[in-house]
Amino acid sequence: MGQKRYTRQQAERLIVRLVNMFESPTHRDATVRKLLKDLLQGRFGDIALDDAVVGRFRSASDSHVRRWAESIRDALHAWVIAPGAGLVMPLDLATFHVPASGELVVQVSTEVAEALRLQLAFALRLVGRERLQQCDCGRLFVRIGKRQFCSERCQKRVYMRRFRVGLAGKE
Ligand SMILES: [Zn+2]
Repeated sequence: MGQKRYTRQQAERLIVRLVNMFESPTHRDATVRKLLKDLLQGRFGDIALDDAVVGRFRSASDSHVRRWAESIRDALHAWVIAPGAGLVMPLDLATFHVPASGELVVQVSTEVAEALRLQLAFALRLVGRERLQQCDCGRLFVRIGKRQFCSERCQKRVYMRRFRVGLAGKE
């Protein structure tokens, strides 16, 4: 399959890079393509994508790739804003492969957009979906440690606002 199996830490790094890309106003087409390709080619659980899906991604135009990136960004925002809603996504084109020994693998051959959302869902599950959060400013970020904001700038801004109304340190 040629898919690289990700550890939790590696998946976290990829999710952080994806979220930073989506939430920054400027990013190059080459960056978008590279990160989506990494997501598509990663192995985050016992699920494998058909090689044809990756092939379709590789030969897609920049405008297709941008549209896929936007659809993933929208999916991320929807999950964070409505955390109880979960994710429902019909997949018609999956087959089970039960090997004589070793793990059960679900092999999926689907459209690139669906494949990307599926990969994202597995990557997020590996990282811990609750760690994807929305900052005070509306941007998404991955919570690492006790971090509560997308950036130091936001942390200072919110702290100063609390300070001005006399709430600093009182919470
Ligand atoms: Zn922020």
